[in-house]
Amino acid sequence: MPEKLTMIGAGLAGPLMASYLSERGYSVDIFERRLDMRCVNQSAGRSINLALSKRGIEALKEIGVYKLIKPMMLPMVGRMIHDNDGNTHLQKYGQKKSEVIYSISRAFLNKTIMDYAESKNNVKIIFEHPLIGVDLNQNKLIFKDKKKQFERLFGSDGSSSKIRDSINKVQPIGYRNLPLDHGYKELTIPPDAEGNYRMDSKSLHIWPRGDFMLIALPNIDKSFTCTLFFPLNGKLSFSSINSGKKIMKFFSSYFPDTIELIPDLKEEYVNNPVGKLSTIYCNRWHFKDKALIFGDAAHAIVPFFGQGMNASFQDCSIINEFIIKYDGNWDKIFSHFSDVQVPNGHAIADMAIENYIEMRDSVNDPMFIKRREIEFELESRFTERFVPRYSMVSFTTIPYSEVYRRGLLQLGLIDNYITGKISKSALYEQIKNQLDPIR
Ligand code: FAD
Repeated sequence: MPEKLTMIGAGLAGPLMASYLSERGYSVDIFERRLDMRCVNQSAGRSINLALSKRGIEALKEIGVYKLIKPMMLPMVGRMIHDNDGNTHLQKYGQKKSEVIYSISRAFLNKTIMDYAESKNNVKIIFEHPLIGVDLNQNKLIFKDKKKQFERLFGSDGSSSKIRDSINKVQPIGYRNLPLDHGYKELTIPPDAEGNYRMDSKSLHIWPRGDFMLIALPNIDKSFTCTLFFPLNGKLSFSSINSGKKIMKFFSSYFPDTIELIPDLKEEYVNNPVGKLSTIYCNRWHFKDKALIFGDAAHAIVPFFGQGMNASFQDCSIINEFIIKYDGNWDKIFSHFSDVQVPNGHAIADMAIENYIEMRDSVNDPMFIKRREIEFELESRFTERFVPRYSMVSFTTIPYSEVYRRGLLQLGLIDNYITGKISKSALYEQIKNQLDPIR
């Protein structure tokens, strides 16, 4: 009899991890609080589409589900910046043809991975089972009207994880929740009268406006989903822009070119909810050999690097690596996963917060543009050693903590050159001395 594992949460990461576990010969029951989105029309929660990049793609490939996802992926080659006067310019993400990120529907991805996991005979998803609590000492899961025994528990129950809370209760894990004072609201740019995209479909559109921004990602049905990231409170905020008249005035002042693009602007703005965002840090992601958290349950991050799901998928691949390496010794698998991944979770969480400022503000800053030009030049000259930070995050699988370290070092060298502290030849010399080859 294969060992039976129990998982909570059939969002993006849970069913992917269950597919890996099933490949390793385990049987997995996943308890999910929602209805089955494949049978009832309900939102997959949060953003309608997501940016998928290298880390996520590698895990999807490794487990064999990528071929089902690929036909629905829409490449985005860079950021299309929309200025206040309606002018646009493209800032490419990378220099190579393959250096693109992909827009993908969250619901499609979730449904496809659930189907894939269930196609393996030993994975079962049990819907409408909200977990209320866990007794880790007695190995008991507490649902609304029943209790269930478990042997080993995997928590992929997202940012408000009950498994994380229960671990933290029996053995504090340094849990911190840092709410962002900006929230988000989704709006739609439908296809035009001929059924075509109303803007370039091969880029991620950004309207950076300093303290806030609007972004838009393409969908396969030729629409775009826009997300307004905006302060929750204050003079210009979700709480102050709260009536039809104010909404139209605000958009006419800051995003004039979107008035034509979003025909149902007023209705959508009034009716669509404001999503809250926060970052979750924990210093340990497991309890003995009994329970492990991964994905957003372990490291919910703000969405400005497009990495939350990618990081969660990479978690699955790394857990799998340790299951093979430690041959089913769960004590070692859980503790090594936690030791290795916690610093990476913290690093991507910090970079995601930093990237919000870059996206909503710095992309328009001449210093930022200059740095970007130099980064590309250095990458062409030192292909193996110098990889821009955005590229390390999105187009490699290098641990995020190493990306963070190298990113800071690279930024320091470039700034020393721009401010005249070092010459170009000294810059080249320092790159050769301080940056080991990574590709
Ligand atoms: P989730 O997908 O949240 O799944 C958790 C599951 O657990 C859910 O199905 C939930 O119903 C279930 N659950 C929760 N509590 C219980 C309970 N008590 N009992 C039973 N079931 C429970 N990431 C990217 O990589 N690229 C992007 O472009 C991107 N854009 C984003 C945009 C926005 C606005 C937001 C908010 C996030 C974005 N993310 C993005 C992050 C991404 O959505 C998450 O990182 C990803 O969903 C994490 O997967 P998960 O399975 O860990 O959690």
